[in-house]
Parts: sequence; structure tokens; C-alpha cells
Amino acid sequence: MAGEICFAILTISDTCSQDTSKDRSGPRLVALIREAFQNAHILSAILPDEREQISDKLRQLVAQRNPSVSAIITTGGTGFAPRDVTPEATKFLLDKECPQLAQYIAQASLQITKFAALTRGVCGIAGSTLILNFPGSEKAVTECFEVVRDLLPHALQLIGNELPLVRRVHAELQATVGNASTSGHVCPHQTGKGDDSDRNSPFPMISVVQALEVIFQTVQQQRAVAQLLNDFVAPVDIPPFRASIKDGYAMKSTGFSGTKKVLGYISAGDEVIVHDLEEDECYKINTGAPVPHYADCIVQVEDTKLLKRKKTGEEDLVEILVEPQANLDIRPIGTDLRKGSKLFPSADHSAVVIKSILSSVGKHLTGVRKPKVGIISTGSELLAPSQPEAKGKIYDSNTTMLEELLQYFGFECAQKVVLSDDFEIVKGKIEELFKSVDFIICSGGVSMGDKDYIKPALQALGFTLNFGRVNMKPGKPMTFASKQDHYFFGLPGNPVSAFVTFHLFVLPAIRWFAGWERDKCELASLPITLQNESIALDPRPEYVRASVTSKNGRLYASVNGSQMSSRLQSIVGADVLVHLPGRTSDKPCAVAGDVYRASVLRYDFISKYE
Ligand code: AMP
Ligand code: MG
Repeated sequence: MAGEICFAILTISDTCSQDTSKDRSGPRLVALIREAFQNAHILSAILPDEREQISDKLRQLVAQRNPSVSAIITTGGTGFAPRDVTPEATKFLLDKECPQLAQYIAQASLQITKFAALTRGVCGIAGSTLILNFPGSEKAVTECFEVVRDLLPHALQLIGNELPLVRRVHAELQATVGNASTSGHVCPHQTGKGDDSDRNSPFPMISVVQALEVIFQTVQQQRAVAQLLNDFVAPVDIPPFRASIKDGYAMKSTGFSGTKKVLGYISAGDEVIVHDLEEDECYKINTGAPVPHYADCIVQVEDTKLLKRKKTGEEDLVEILVEPQANLDIRPIGTDLRKGSKLFPSADHSAVVIKSILSSVGKHLTGVRKPKVGIISTGSELLAPSQPEAKGKIYDSNTTMLEELLQYFGFECAQKVVLSDDFEIVKGKIEELFKSVDFIICSGGVSMGDKDYIKPALQALGFTLNFGRVNMKPGKPMTFASKQDHYFFGLPGNPVSAFVTFHLFVLPAIRWFAGWERDKCELASLPITLQNESIALDPRPEYVRASVTSKNGRLYASVNGSQMSSRLQSIVGADVLVHLPGRTSDKPCAVAGDVYRASVLRYDFISKYE
């Protein structure tokens, strides 16, 4: 049909060709293309790892007319195994190789996983068809597609020699000065040169999932606490003596019910009585007190009757109303915790748990190094909250917010500093601060302004900029850099962007460093039903602040007013961040009743019960 772009997806796998239900990557690519191109016509096929069959199919697709195939994406057969021959089957069909494109995909993939080094995919043009070899896994195809998504329309137009279209794309890019990303398209001809005509960030826009993956791959876990806890064995038994579970009378189970003489009183904290007693004798005993050595039964007070007191007022004779039974209401030594057993059978990083468990065996945690974190806020406009108002200045909220967030999640801020927008000052302070901290959480100065010096300063200091743009709202210029075991988070300066990116990226990184399990590093999330009538979706996935109401056991999210990234008010009453998906032609709005995932921001996250 006119105006359609024809894509072909080839899954290349011996396994999938035998059982097509096993193919996940092919359908994933089809879905990704459908999402990115409203006018896509998609052919798909599954082939075994047979070189001849692959080349025949590629040749046939390249030669096809009505519709002619604009792009073929293969998935699978790019590895090192003997039967991996997709690149070989592709290569000799190509009229032009596109090594830069292959390299670009490889570079982006390598930032996510070093295993990307073990794929050999090629990219090139055969006739007027672009052919891309992607690896076989669903995760890899998703990541690779994300990398080329912005480039594809333009590349296809160039290959098809559709000059008017190419000119239009260039013109559109020039028109979106300062706001280039709204088109979601980064033109390779205009990007990264740094001259005046270059209005685009040179950083590829990666997804939130990819950004997290890069963080987890880059930050080295400090296993100290996790290891220490794992190795910790109980130095004592709990209880360390046979303890009474009830307030009652300790006796021999071989005796019968009936009248018994009370020999004395045993309270919690007393020593164990080691002398023998008769079957018609007993001790009055309290909960938690040590059971006499020769007693093996406690009868609770409720099952007894006081018969006689001594002149001193102490009990003399009691009647036991039930038959005594061996071991009744006695907690044997080590019931709760046996000496030598693991104190922390599973990892738990709650300070409450760690400290109280260690206290229960008479220990406290020593020799553990906590992550050292420094906070930098940048902006010549910033005033400390204690200063008087001044023209052109605004109060700095990020420093306080980031410090409080660190504390809320059980970490500390080692040092904080507010800097003006000056390249040398920023660079010097980052270098100095990293002499004593593992992490710097910086806000401001990472976007496209001429005073945004963070990225150049990091580059000048020899840091690797692992990513510099994330497909999210708010928080697009989110930057993560590292150099050996120093990690730098460049959060956008807008307070809400800093708030959201702290929760989504910084917190997981610090927890990971501190030895937390991967799945526990991110905020807990849960499905939630939207209450707002309608919210226009942004092209980027959006993380909106919402308060939570519980109605009949179901959780509802109500988005808190304007979500502009400068409006810190939107965090008032914010219990969760609702993950709204990017807009598609099928789904332009989120509406009441839609269910989305939401990240829980605070422990007391239900604001209202109805
Ligand atoms: P930037 O990311 O530096 O371009 O800053 C984006 C916006 O956030 C600007 O309007 C800044 O004034 C504001 N901003 C930057 N840092 C802070 C801060 N620490 N507290 C409050 N607002 C800030
Ligand atoms: Mg600034």
C-alpha cells in the first residue's frame, strides 16, 4: 500500500525453526517496529542456522517488489558457535557495508553488557534494502532496536534516495532548536560536532531499563556487609537455658496433679536451681525464668489453686488441677537460635533487622564501610535557604532534598557543596570531592545550556560518560559517569527531575554498591489503578507523582496537579511514581481505570482509606 514501509524480520535459529512457539525475539522485533512506525508492513520468517537457506531468503527479500523491502532485521546466528553463520550469509550479498552503524550498535550494547563483544553482526545495504544483523536474545534485540530506532527513518529515506523527505527531516531538526528531542529523532549528520548548527545532544537516548542495566554493570558491588552477615554464626544459644514459657509452677512430670509444696520463687534473671526436688514439690516460676535442673514441666497459674500461705505471706501449698506432662511450656536451650547456626540465613539490609539481631547475641556491627556520598548542587542562581531573597536568585532545594532522601533510605551524606556555573570550579571540586567519596550526586548543569559544564568537566577529568540521555520524563539529560571505583550521577537541576532520577537511578546504585541483592535495589513497585479521568501521554515514558487511596483493598493513584519538572509542589503527598507509557497512536491518553506499575516512594505510602 502507498506510504507503507515494508520490513522483514528473520529469526535465525535451529531451535525456533523446529518449534516456532519458542521464537520470542522475532515477535518482539515485530512489536517494536509496529510501535515505532505506524505505517509498517512487516513480513516475518523463521529459518534454521543454514547459510544457504539464509542467503537465499535474504536474496529473495532484497529482490522482492510490490512491496519492496526497505529493511531486513535478522535475529540470531551472530555468535561464536560453529552453526552461527548469519553474518557470513549476509556479508556476500551486500553492495555496501555500513560498519559505522554496526559499530554504533556494538558500542551501545557494550555499555550494557561486555557479552556484546561476543556478537559479530554486520550492517549493510543490498540493492535498496538495509540489512541489520541483531543477536538472538529478546533482551539484545530490544536493546539494539532502541539504538537504531531514531536512525532508521532517515537511513531508509537516504537509501531510497527520497531527497525531499531527507530535506524535510533536516529542516525539522533545525526548527527544533533547543528542543531537538521532541521529535524523538537524532540526525546522525548533525549530531555531536559541537558547532553552532549542532543542536542535538551527542548522547544516544537510552531507555530507563537500559540505563539501570548500565549502572548495575558499572558499579562494583562492595560485598562487605552482605558477606559479613552471611558469614556470621550465632556465638550463643537463645535461650541459653531452659526457659519457662508461662507464669506458673515448675515440677516433675512424673508426679501427679493434686497438692504440692512450693519450695520457692524463681524470677527471670535468676540462676538455674541445680538441686533435686520431690514429685510433690514445685517452684513458683515466671515467664522467661530458668527452669530448675530436675524439673521438666510447667503448669500455668490458671491451672492451679492456692491452698495455703506461710506466715511470711509466701505461697506454701498449691493444688495442681491438671496432669503434669513432660516438656510442657518449656523452651529448650537454643530453640530460637542454635549456637553455631547462621545468624542471617538470607540477606537483609534493614538496619533495624541487622542491629536488633546482632544485639540479641550480644554483638554489634564493626568494620563495615558505608558508601561515602557527596552532594554537589550547581547553579549561579542558587541561594542557601538561610540567605535573604536576592534579585535573579532562587532558593536551592536540591541540596536539602538529596541529603534528606539519602537519610530516608539509610545512607549518609559525607559532604555537600553548592557551586556556581564555572567550568574550572566545577571540575576542581569534583576532583577534590572524589578523594574522599565513592559517589557524587550532582544536580544541574547537565543539559544543553552554554553554562552546563558537568559533562565537559567529567570528560576533562578522564571520566567515562556511560550515558548522557534517558528516554524519560522528567529527567531526560540524566547523566552517569564513572572512573575506576568513582561514580558520578549528574541529575538535571529541575527539582522534580532530580527527585525522580534519584529514586530511579541513584538509590539502586548506592544499594547495589552496599551489597544489596539486585532485585531489592530498585524501589518496590506494584500495579495501581489510575483515578484521574484522562492524562495526555507524553512521547516519552513519564514518571508522575501520585497519592494513593485504598478502597476495598484495591489501590488507586491520583496524580498530583501539574507535573512540570520545575514544580516541586508535585512531591507534596506523593506516595508513588506512576509509570505512564510513552504515547502511541493507539493510546494517546491514560484514562481512569487503566492499571499501571507504580514505584513506592515511602513506607507510609497509602494516604487515604475509603
Ligand atoms: P539546569 O539543569 O542546571 O539547567 O537547571 C534546570 C532548572 O533547575 C533551572 O531552572 C535551575 O534554576 C533549577 N535548579 C537547578 N539547581 C537547582 C537547585 N539546587 N534547587 C532548585 N532549583 C534548581
Ligand atoms: Mg544550571
